[in-house]
Amino acid sequence: MTDAVVVGSGPNGLAAAIRLAQAGLDVTVLEASDRPGGGTRTSELTLPGLLHDDCAAFHPTGVVSPFLASLDLQRFGLTWDYPEVDLAHPLDDGRAGLISRDMVVTSQSLGVDGARWARSLGAQARNFDKLVDEVFRPIVHVPKHPIALGRFGVQALLPATWAVKRWRDEPAKALAMGVAAHAFGRLDRPLTSSIGLMLTAAGHAAGWPVAHGGSGAISSALVALLESLGGTVRTGIAVTSHAQVEELLGRRPDVVLLDTSPSAAVRILGDRLPARVRRQIGRYRYGPAIHKVDFAIEGDIPWTNPGTRRAGTVHVGGTAAEVAAAEAATGRGEMPERPFLLVGQQYLADASRSQGSVNPVWAYAHVPHGYAGDATAALVAQIERFAPGFRDRILATAVRGTAAMESYNANYVGGDINVGANSARQVVMRPRIALDPYRLGDGLYLCSAATPPGPGVHGMCGFHAAESALRRL
Ligand SMILES: Cc1cc2nc3c(=O)[nH]c(=O)nc-3n(C[C@H](O)[C@H](O)[C@H](O)COP(=O)(O)OP(=O)(O)OC[C@H]3O[C@@H](n4cnc5c(N)ncnc54)[C@H](O)[C@@H]3O)c2cc1C
Repeated sequence: MTDAVVVGSGPNGLAAAIRLAQAGLDVTVLEASDRPGGGTRTSELTLPGLLHDDCAAFHPTGVVSPFLASLDLQRFGLTWDYPEVDLAHPLDDGRAGLISRDMVVTSQSLGVDGARWARSLGAQARNFDKLVDEVFRPIVHVPKHPIALGRFGVQALLPATWAVKRWRDEPAKALAMGVAAHAFGRLDRPLTSSIGLMLTAAGHAAGWPVAHGGSGAISSALVALLESLGGTVRTGIAVTSHAQVEELLGRRPDVVLLDTSPSAAVRILGDRLPARVRRQIGRYRYGPAIHKVDFAIEGDIPWTNPGTRRAGTVHVGGTAAEVAAAEAATGRGEMPERPFLLVGQQYLADASRSQGSVNPVWAYAHVPHGYAGDATAALVAQIERFAPGFRDRILATAVRGTAAMESYNANYVGGDINVGANSARQVVMRPRIALDPYRLGDGLYLCSAATPPGPGVHGMCGFHAAESALRRL
């Protein structure tokens, strides 16, 4: 029987393992941590019984992922819960731009820009199925839906700082800039609109749901499916070399897929990597990082804006100009006084995360790569700015800075949760310029978020890497 080893059990590693097991391979997954799941784990980080997502929380890419959808993970216990409002971006004057599956909610929140937003983003949302087909794969391919891709591409190419100029008022400008900031770092470069545009269209088309019981339900379902196909997951094994994999297996596996950072792939594969590939990967760049704080709070966050009190995700950073400036600072390696934050109120969609009136709140600030300081005070101050009284409701906190993020998961190099900077080159081609970006060498593949289509819980990097391996077997 042909056998495969997958190093790392994040959603991409598990997706790759499932695809290979579906094709009849004997698959073993080796995971460094004592629990599988990578970016999709859930823990009681603050108080007993409160369920916090260690990493990924909202799943616009999970719910639209063609591969995850094909797996029917409901059979293994995965269900999506939807917040009333998918995303809010509050402003100092009490207004907020909202993204909702109900375009009326969005357009009402955007005032003078509402009708135009509904026309433009509504069209992208209506075409979203076609768009998913095109953007959830390597960029070099023959498009099946050239018109939908062309419409998306024209807008996606623009720097976010230019793209927001089409909006007249701040709620729409800030809303668009906040979603663009998912790219991390400078937003005045080409293609910095692409990620935000995709996430916005996904929000209108399919929502930004959470996994019932926590994102750990996604990895539990994937592991259960893999095991039902005969695959095995072995935890507590940090792979440092190819020889170690052979020793563990007692033979050389036919294929090895790495759900790791490109730098770890170079260390693990050593001389087995062609020199050209090693050189190309040596040029791979990592980006800005995060500082994560989970809170246990009494009651809800007292946001001034009522729509924000109903939102699953909240982007905190003020005006579009402020967000762009904070992102530019982290890109330069400077810690902004007022960082851009993501705040998660998953419990609004999924009451099983809470204990009585005590609720878990998930938050992170964008900080420079490898930032060694403590951004907790700046993060709390930013929330307090739009929700006066928040501080008084905090019962407990759990903090992970950039170094703690990297020791939690080696893929987050320097605290970079995207496993690579979203520079124009690396949005188009990652981890290197190649027709098959997954293949590193003979029987060797990279399947992590450092490959197309990049970060997010969708498993599509793993799926495409496995397809690449299967084509050659
Ligand atoms: C705080 C945070 C918030 C996020 N929020 C969202 C969100 O809301 N929505 C969303 O879609 N995405 C989000 N993401 C991103 C998402 O989690 C990742 O893009 C996704 O998990 C990538 O999947 P992956 O399989 O490539 O890698 P990972 O999920 O990172 O998994 C890699 C796995 O490989 C293991 N590993 C690494 N090296 C080795 C080794 N040498 N030996 C053995 N095992 C190894 C790691 O321990 C880890 O388990 C977030 C990430 C973070 C950190």
